[in-house]
Amino acid sequence: MDCLFCKIISGEVPAQVVRETEQTLAFRDINPQAPVHVLVIPKLHVPDFASLAEHPEALAALAAEAAKVADAEGVAKSGYRVVFNTGSGAGQTVFHAHAHVLGGRGLNWPPG
Ligand code: C5P
Repeated sequence: MDCLFCKIISGEVPAQVVRETEQTLAFRDINPQAPVHVLVIPKLHVPDFASLAEHPEALAALAAEAAKVADAEGVAKSGYRVVFNTGSGAGQTVFHAHAHVLGGRGLNWPPG
């Protein structure tokens, strides 16, 4: 399957990995939008958040890992945002489900 994030999981495409579990991989976004910008992905290939919701174990593992990443990156106390861009209209460009963990600066609401 020609999936960029599957290639990062297999090591075929390099990434700056910050954490790995049996079910998830977390790596720094190549084009960071905040001082902390880590992507957390399931090792299971599903295209988007809606599909991930059909796999409760993988979704729970991803949520737990996003919180651990925020803690490890030092933004758990100051506040952070977990974002799933879902669909090209919302800015999704890679169709392997992923959570953006963003923090380390003020985050406006509503988001752009
Ligand atoms: O939500 P979206 O699908 O746009 O997010 C994909 C993210 O993957 C982008 O923020 C992009 O910078 C990141 N990316 C990456 N490493 C790559 C290719 C894309 O971190 N090799």
